[in-house]
Amino acid sequence: MERISHWVGGKVVPGESGRTGPVFNPATGEQTHEVDFASVEELDRAVEVAKEAFPDWRTLSLSKRAAVMFRIREVMDSRKTEIAKAVTAQHGKCLFDALAEVERGVELVEFAAGVPHLMKGGFSEQVTTGFDLYSVRQPLGVVAGITPFNFPAMVPMWMCAGAIAAGNCFILKPSEKDSGASLELAETFKEAGLPDGVFQVVQGDKVAVDRILEHPDIKAVSFVGSTPVARYIYATASANGKRVQALAGAKNHMVVLPDADVGMAADAAVSSVYGSAGERCMAVATVVPVGDIGEPLMEAILDRTAKLKVGDGMDPENEMGPLVTREHRDKVVTYIDGAREQGAKVLVDGREHPLWGTGFFVGPSVIDHVTTEMDCYRDEIFGPVMTVVRVGTYEEAVDLIKRNRWGNGAAVFTRDGGAARQFVFDVEAGMVGINVPIPVPLAFYSFGGWKESLFGDSKMYGPEGMHFWTREKAVTVRWPDPATSTVDLGFPGAR
Ligand code: NAD
Repeated sequence: MERISHWVGGKVVPGESGRTGPVFNPATGEQTHEVDFASVEELDRAVEVAKEAFPDWRTLSLSKRAAVMFRIREVMDSRKTEIAKAVTAQHGKCLFDALAEVERGVELVEFAAGVPHLMKGGFSEQVTTGFDLYSVRQPLGVVAGITPFNFPAMVPMWMCAGAIAAGNCFILKPSEKDSGASLELAETFKEAGLPDGVFQVVQGDKVAVDRILEHPDIKAVSFVGSTPVARYIYATASANGKRVQALAGAKNHMVVLPDADVGMAADAAVSSVYGSAGERCMAVATVVPVGDIGEPLMEAILDRTAKLKVGDGMDPENEMGPLVTREHRDKVVTYIDGAREQGAKVLVDGREHPLWGTGFFVGPSVIDHVTTEMDCYRDEIFGPVMTVVRVGTYEEAVDLIKRNRWGNGAAVFTRDGGAARQFVFDVEAGMVGINVPIPVPLAFYSFGGWKESLFGDSKMYGPEGMHFWTREKAVTVRWPDPATSTVDLGFPGAR
């Protein structure tokens, strides 16, 4: 059995705790790897190495750090298929999708390579007579990221590209379900010339996470994962005095107004709900047809759903792969039974797909006439299950989203510019799509939801990301003529 170990001080370091977890090929259901789970001591060793690397890394000029980021961009781009294959092998998503995830990672490096510009402070001359005032942004020191299984290459890049470029030393605790991609990233960075100790990987479970949350030398924690864990990370890390951002679960609505193009809306809904087998935090989970468009829309959706090619993600013919683990698949299908019992109409049950029973596959499911009290609406399913809540008016659609506990993404489909503009004004979500079902901002904007989709006050990557990974220092300066110097016990004020 192949092992997935830690990456500390620029090399693979086998775990010594004696604790490990299994990693599977979800397309076959077979275990392919054993991942090491770090002990407290192993996490502490990685922090020590990071602390040693920090002074030289933060002292390296912005131009030289930018040059390293440019090299990372080149090496990552040249290795993207390799990294994507590692993602598909353990996560299950189709290779073209994994490749797109890695390319998003490359874009984040491109953004971070602009660090000389991103770290600019401000300067005000003559703020009071003879005084100037300027600000600089400085790195925090050793920082950490804890990531989920669903984007094992991209989400670590959301965090580490900006963190590293800003001059921090970053420790990644990847998901234990598909940890292989983390080592691909580490090797990529090493090949690009990133100094040892600046990016490290500590594999593990709650033991490693809890140590990150309490370690006095870890200054900031960035987290992406489910809502209950995000809430815990936010509460614990902030109680320990750390800067923390915790991005969490989601239930994204796609509102289809009566004037929308039915075919385009159906294409978008099917692409978004079933892409990556629904294991995307920005996937549409709930389609909300408004008024008369319900019937034609559902017909078009069913037509497309029946044609989806489900199978091994390594086969370029396939469009949707399996779920990540057997446990997750089993949980996903409980929502289909629950929906039926609670009065919804199950139009397609993914267990009727021929691949049910092979690996961790479940086919696409469609559940119509869902209401807000049903578990399939209230919970995040995170699988290839479309729930459809029909409403009569635009106001009901907006109100539905407002009442939902999450607010990651929301989309509206319409041909009416005024209605779309009003939706942007009204809707309670952090990222909004107009005729775009997965509105993930590019690297130069920031990513993050509202309500229970984000605990903390800064979004990830983009300008807010750079802000999160740095702190400001304000410097007040004067160069007086010594002849004018006097003792003055008054509180400095504006003169
Ligand atoms: P998860 O919360 O189970 O795990 C995330 C990380 O937390 C992993 O590294 C895991 O090892 C660790 N962890 C799990 N349980 C823990 C515990 N009890 N104590 C301490 N650490 C723990 O999430 P997941 O299943 O890997 O990922 C799917 C979830 O992530 C979904 O809810 C999805 O919506 C969310 N997600 C959100 C975003 C976003 O930007 N809002 C992006 C991607 C994924």
